[in-house]
Amino acid sequence: MNPIPYGRQSITDEDIRAVVETLRSDFLTQGPEIAAFEDAFAKYVGARYAVAVSNGTAALHLSAMAAGVQSGDNVVVTPTTFTASANCVRYCGGNVAFCDIDKDSYLLDLDKLKQMLAAKPEGYYKGIVPVDFAGYPVHGEKLREIADRYNLWIIEDACHAPGAWFADSKGEKQFAGNGKFAELTCFSFHPVKHITTGEGGMITTDSKSLYEKLILYRTHGISKNPDLLSENHGGWYYEMLELGYNYRLTDFQAALGVSQLKRADAGLKRRQEIAARYNEAFKNISGIITPKVSTDVFHAYHLYVIQVEDRLGLYNHLRKNNIQVQVHYEPVHLQPYYKKSGTQMGNMPVAEDFYRHCLSLPMYPALTDEEQEYVIEKVKEFVI
Ligand SMILES: *Cc1c(COP(=O)(O)O)cnc(C)c1O
Repeated sequence: MNPIPYGRQSITDEDIRAVVETLRSDFLTQGPEIAAFEDAFAKYVGARYAVAVSNGTAALHLSAMAAGVQSGDNVVVTPTTFTASANCVRYCGGNVAFCDIDKDSYLLDLDKLKQMLAAKPEGYYKGIVPVDFAGYPVHGEKLREIADRYNLWIIEDACHAPGAWFADSKGEKQFAGNGKFAELTCFSFHPVKHITTGEGGMITTDSKSLYEKLILYRTHGISKNPDLLSENHGGWYYEMLELGYNYRLTDFQAALGVSQLKRADAGLKRRQEIAARYNEAFKNISGIITPKVSTDVFHAYHLYVIQVEDRLGLYNHLRKNNIQVQVHYEPVHLQPYYKKSGTQMGNMPVAEDFYRHCLSLPMYPALTDEEQEYVIEKVKEFVI
């Protein structure tokens, strides 16, 4: 049996053809594939604007810049995430204020969030970075209500959740990143994510002014837009208006993204099937906690996370059997870098307890039924 990873890409001949065609074209970067990918992605999530960038971390960084994070700003972040969700605040000099997670959804606990916000003077917090952990979309409508009460912006980290949705109070589907609730939403196209461009990322928004900022920040803060220039010396003339970066995606990566996006829904369907089979296999095993998903949510299952008592034992057992399970995540507030700001063990009891028990089982569209059966058998062998 070949090693079975927890997540991996699917690349088809059509994907390869799309990339090779772009390599043979006039543009390797800043060509037509970027706009095509942005348009297709904006349509996919239902947002007005999409901006392609070099990776998900760059998407978060530019979003924090566009949201206006400045030195000393306090921003609420979930501890159960990849460190980049918090780091984007630090890149802009802001302070990360962690808020514990809900024990069932593993997302920001909205009751704790309300308590946290109410405990400080108006204006103390500037924004929130919620994460659609494992593919479970945050309830944007409820979160927006809280954010509006305290005048906060929302940057949704939806790196796990392209295609996920929640049903709003009218019963309508609201897709992660559709621009209706979060000002800015970030996605990643790393190979373990739903669709891949090798490295890559995307920001979606419904705001024209935020969109224009992102476009500027993506390329050094440089513009040739005649409306923005203070002078104009001729056709070559540009001005650097803001301190930006080079966070561009290449055209051949965007071509891969366009091709991958066509199979995004098929991938989600397969992920749902795999989750259903795991749920069924583990439903009567008291030693395994499976994901609890509210019925008004479509979970994108970037990860399938179980909780067990002896997590290290199960991890080692599965690894020994060539199943490359993984742990998501070590709580960010316990990383040595963040502990320097005063956070410590005991601050986020739910996230810390979750971390002690969680394990991500293989979950990706190309996982075969036989491979999944083998994984289930090896999990049961250890837990029962
Ligand atoms: C993958 C990921 C990122 C970072 O994306 P990169 O493309 O690897 O930079 C950020 N947040 C979360 C939750 C992620 O899973």
